[in-house]
Amino acid sequence: MKNIVLFGPPGAGKGTQAEFLKTKYDLIHISTGDVFRYNIKNETELGLLAKSYMDNGNLVPDEVTIDMLKAEVDRNTAAKGFIFDGFPRTESQAESLDLFLAHKHSEIAGMIALEVPENLLVERLLNRGKTSGRSDDQDEVKIRNRFSEYESKTAILKNYYQIQNKYFGVDGVGSIEDITAKLEKVINRLGKSSK
Ligand code: AMP
Repeated sequence: MKNIVLFGPPGAGKGTQAEFLKTKYDLIHISTGDVFRYNIKNETELGLLAKSYMDNGNLVPDEVTIDMLKAEVDRNTAAKGFIFDGFPRTESQAESLDLFLAHKHSEIAGMIALEVPENLLVERLLNRGKTSGRSDDQDEVKIRNRFSEYESKTAILKNYYQIQNKYFGVDGVGSIEDITAKLEKVINRLGKSSK
């Protein structure tokens, strides 16, 4: 299995790039944000629970998010591997993911981070908000709060994967195609040593 964590702050382009990479490498793309939004739209119990956190740009509690992620992975028994997009976002999520995959005799091959300066991210999110309909993309206060959550809880994961020699930073500024090409270079190298 080749499991990849696509990492980066909100607006870095994780979802856009995952769409290309999942086809190229035949991987299942799991975006925890998308799963939450699907549940909100369908007014499930999980959706109701997640909504107030998401509306304000706060992280949904770990326990809820981790259980949901595991269920998504287990729904795809025939998968050749996964692209995790928006997960893990806390150290506790990263530890749970490692344990969960270890039970399946698998692991994270690498975390690939899209590195983009914050001023560009705000611009991208506000632009996306015009078409995505996402309230958390339309309000600069909510956007800033998402960055603050990222800085205080998520950014440390760089260190978590670096210690395992699994962190790969990629410049996320430029054309979509150029960035895809850079990501593919990293993934092709990962393939040499991953399970
Ligand atoms: P995203 O689509 O990745 O930008 O996520 C949108 C929102 O969903 C976030 O601001 C959080 O409220 C929630 N969310 C998505 N993934 C996670 C996660 N791994 N842990 C906690 N909350 C999450």
